[in-house]
Amino acid sequence: MFDALESWLRLSAARIHEQAPALTALDQAIGDGDHGINMDRGFAAILVQLDAGAPEVEGDVARAGTMLRTAGRTLISTVGGAAGPLYGTAFVRAGSTLVAAESSTADGELVLAALEAAIAGIAGLGKATAGEKTMLDALVPALTSGREALGAGSTVAEITRVIAEAAEAGAIATIPLLATKGRASYLGERSVGHQDPGATSSALLLRSLADAVAAA
Ligand code: ADP
Ligand code: MG
Repeated sequence: MFDALESWLRLSAARIHEQAPALTALDQAIGDGDHGINMDRGFAAILVQLDAGAPEVEGDVARAGTMLRTAGRTLISTVGGAAGPLYGTAFVRAGSTLVAAESSTADGELVLAALEAAIAGIAGLGKATAGEKTMLDALVPALTSGREALGAGSTVAEITRVIAEAAEAGAIATIPLLATKGRASYLGERSVGHQDPGATSSALLLRSLADAVAAA
């Protein structure tokens, strides 16, 4: 688990760096044009931390959870804007779920429990639900599809692939939505017709997870 999630954070950082101009362009349309810059700054700081080495923690899953918690705190302190505290809280909650998990829990269930905790963190802090044109519109359908895949007996690689596909579809499905949370809500009806930047970065993170798990 630790190695796969470290690869995930590194792959995410590389893709966010590469996609930063595209994320920023989406945020220029319905926000203040900083989402790619914000996320790139945060993930660059996570990379510096990963390179410095992880603290010794007993147990592979708990060690992975500790790494995610540290990454979350880094996002909170470096990203700024709305997305920093939201993603930061999501990573901290996901990490805490792994730290507290029973050692016998299957990897697929661990991933879904962590995603569920991340969503609860974002929804609580952002006071948002799915359908408001935010990152939750990628994450919530991802969780639903992932749970279905787990119920059907899928492996963790299959589950993360299904999650990534649902998140990407969810991000695209934000285009016709009216924003009712965050800066985009200031635009009212003019927010319709644009893809949400946060849902797009969430889909990017979950696609990176699927690719990191597939390569593990
Ligand atoms: P800011 O809006 O402060 O400039 P960013 O541009 O980095 O921050 O992030 C914007 C993204 O944050 C949006 O596209 C949306 O997905 C997400 N977001 C904003 N407000 C909320 C909220 N209340 N709940 C959930 N997500 C939100
Ligand atoms: Mg912005």
